[in-house]
Amino acid sequence: MIKVEEKLFQNRYRVDAEHPHINIGNPEVCQVECKTQQCTYCCPAGCYTREGNGRIVLITDGCLECGTCRIICTEFRNVEWEYPRGGYGILFKFG
Ligand code: SF4
Ligand code: SF4
Repeated sequence: MIKVEEKLFQNRYRVDAEHPHINIGNPEVCQVECKTQQCTYCCPAGCYTREGNGRIVLITDGCLECGTCRIICTEFRNVEWEYPRGGYGILFKFG
């Protein structure tokens, strides 16, 4: 039985460094107003991390393009999300 982590490890990802497909609209909203910061624990790829000062750091390398972060940021709608340009992003090996 293959674990999910092992499956994820087999995905390939091509980073589009100049055009990240997800952006945080207003970082201050994350840091000051959003008390729950659910993006930091709902992203299956761990793209969002919280720093000690409450600032959210978003690194989209390894993003699975699931759209969860956009959907869960309901209160502030602070996630700007679009699919990567052709040829970039994730290449799923399983499913
Ligand atoms: S859930 Fe939305 S507003 Fe809250 S920290 Fe994450 S991106 Fe920012
Ligand atoms: S689209 Fe999914 S994998 Fe990518 S950053 Fe958002 S929650 Fe994480």
